[in-house]
Amino acid sequence: MSIKRFRLVVIILVLIIVITISLIFIKRSSIIDKEFKSSEKVIVIDPGHGGRDPGAIGFSGSYEKDINLEISKKLFEALKSKGYKVILTRDKDEYIDNSLRADLANKKRARVFISIHGNAIKDKASVKGIQVLYRPHRESTIGDLDSSQLAEIILNFMIEGTGAKNMGTIVRNDLMVLNRTKMPAILIECGFISNENEEKLLLTEDYQKRLVDSIVTGLEHYFSLNPDDELDS
Ligand SMILES: [Zn+2]
Repeated sequence: MSIKRFRLVVIILVLIIVITISLIFIKRSSIIDKEFKSSEKVIVIDPGHGGRDPGAIGFSGSYEKDINLEISKKLFEALKSKGYKVILTRDKDEYIDNSLRADLANKKRARVFISIHGNAIKDKASVKGIQVLYRPHRESTIGDLDSSQLAEIILNFMIEGTGAKNMGTIVRNDLMVLNRTKMPAILIECGFISNENEEKLLLTEDYQKRLVDSIVTGLEHYFSLNPDDELDS
């Protein structure tokens, strides 16, 4: 074999090795992307704040974290009675890092993630109503790639079910629980506790139940539009 030919063979061999390694790497990274599969029955409910983080403070001094937990527990029971597997990120007054809340939902392969919060605004006591926050165009590993549909549906059912003011769906790209979760995820601001009347409502069993019932109806509608057979269970 001439030196020229030998060089050519070496170059071809090196190229083959480089291409093979690249292909293995590309394949592996796509496997990692597809590793997360959403389970058809699992719903993660995330009562916002907790422990040393009270969240917003209400007109009369109530803590957002407490209202979030009460609503979340009712939502947990309501969805459980419908046959869903429901997981709460906290079931008592404790501090949990937001990244851990998202990680739990990913680990449990949740189909949807719903974070429950209450709103407050300084020096604007008249502001009230329900908002649903979401992050659009996230990378999701199941059929529904965009949380906006979930946000819209839940908000509309909640407005219908409670008569609260519609404060719209809001795009938020900066929230850990919406960024880190790998399934459709929303954050519901159930009302403004800085508003005297809305805080009063949010502290009642009856209003909490109306919020929960409308979230459940909205979720079932969302699931009916995104049937189970699209999911890898
Ligand atoms: Zn909050």
